[in-house]
Amino acid sequence: MPNRPSFENPVVIAKPVLVDLDDFKGELQEVWKSGWLTNNGYKHQELEARLQAEIFDGFPTSLVSNATIGLIVAFKTLGITSGEVITTPFTFPATPHSITWAGLKPVFCDIDPDSMNIDVKKIESLITADTKAILAVHVFGRACEVEKIAEIARKHDLKVIYDAAHAFELELNGKSVACYGDASVFSFHATKLFHTVEGGAIVFKDKHLKEKCDIVKNFGIKNEEVIECGINGKMNELQASIGLLMLTEKDIERNHRAMIEGIFHDRLGGVDGVILPRKSGDVTKESLQYFVIRINAAQFGFSRDYVHENLKKHNVFSRKYFYPLCSNAKFYRDFFSAKEERLPIANDVADRVLALPFHGGISPDDAERICDLISSFKGN
Ligand SMILES: *Cc1c(COP(=O)(O)O)cnc(C)c1O
Repeated sequence: MPNRPSFENPVVIAKPVLVDLDDFKGELQEVWKSGWLTNNGYKHQELEARLQAEIFDGFPTSLVSNATIGLIVAFKTLGITSGEVITTPFTFPATPHSITWAGLKPVFCDIDPDSMNIDVKKIESLITADTKAILAVHVFGRACEVEKIAEIARKHDLKVIYDAAHAFELELNGKSVACYGDASVFSFHATKLFHTVEGGAIVFKDKHLKEKCDIVKNFGIKNEEVIECGINGKMNELQASIGLLMLTEKDIERNHRAMIEGIFHDRLGGVDGVILPRKSGDVTKESLQYFVIRINAAQFGFSRDYVHENLKKHNVFSRKYFYPLCSNAKFYRDFFSAKEERLPIANDVADRVLALPFHGGISPDDAERICDLISSFKGN
């Protein structure tokens, strides 16, 4: 492998897409003219309608202030106010935290070693009389086994919510991933490919749930009367304006990331001990949210931590994503379901994963150099 010099400037893991400032000013002028800054304003209405029509296959969509609030609002909207929720430990802390904030108890289920998503074969053994729902995550934009989850939910009369924070535009057999489950929650945080700085959307199967959600996210107020213990989960007009511009901007970012993804696959595909994300056959459109490799230390000769540290020495900042596991966090690790011996795959996977810098600021040459660096670390 040729000896590659270090990067002069730090290569960061994520970089938000910035919409054109003049375009944003144009949007803001319209907002200023309307004098309507939040509470289902014009921009909010337009973004909600366009996302529903253009991205979410017409399924009822409700915008929210962020995905974490969105998950909490989804539980409330579905009428789930007590009991247990089966979820994955291999996720961002917002997933189990939303269960806890909704007054429910997370029950951790081990993951599938290939997809890194909740292992559908292990869900049923965790179901008790208190189980109310399954909160599954499409980790790194790889879809869960949606049909099998639906079957388990039907059999045991459970609700299904998807944390779809990584799955914007993910399509299975030409259909949006949002059409599975009772609700799917998307994050529009600045680090997500499509974003509104902070924000999110809940996509429901049922139109009545969207109508209820619109009340829940606005303090539970319906026609000047308080009918629910709602919350403030509204998206404002400035956020929605960014979202409208991002609807155009996102494809440039998507095309760029698809090219970088191709380089990562070409250059790392033959490196023994580097496991690349594998696409499943039914995916017809990818989310392109993250590029996460796994290091098999026995084959590579060195651990994930070694690769992470050595990339840093060359000014490349990868991220151990998701490490540590949510089930090992202080406030969850004493749960019966969080015990390490009950989650062997998740604990193993968390020690191997490494997210590579993956955004519009990574040039093809950068991507090649990052791959060459990783290859050069390989032991014999
Ligand atoms: C980003 C993210 C969230 C949280 O989204 P916010 O919009 O920042 O609240 C939740 N779950 C996962 C898996 C995420 O990656």
